[in-house]
Amino acid sequence: MNYIQVEVTRNCSEKCLVCPHRKWKMTGEMDLNLFLKVSNLFPNYDVVYLQGWGEPLQHSKIVEMLEIAKKKSKKILLELTLTMN
Ligand code: SF4
Repeated sequence: MNYIQVEVTRNCSEKCLVCPHRKWKMTGEMDLNLFLKVSNLFPNYDVVYLQGWGEPLQHSKIVEMLEIAKKKSKKILLELTLTMN
């Protein structure tokens, strides 16, 4: 299986001991236009993994991103904490 991984946001409400957020306080989210450009690569992969050091559902445009990804991907994976505050 080949896959592409895209970190759509670094925002996260959790405080996991293993996370680099504890040291570097990373925040921010991927620009939707950049995501649109990157999404042109999605048809080349079996799986599009929208996950990095952050909670994907906290991206302000995650619905739009999922709609774009759904059109261009064979399979989409998300790993969620389901914490939104
Ligand atoms: S980004 Fe992942 S590892 Fe880091 S605090 Fe959030 S859930 Fe934990």
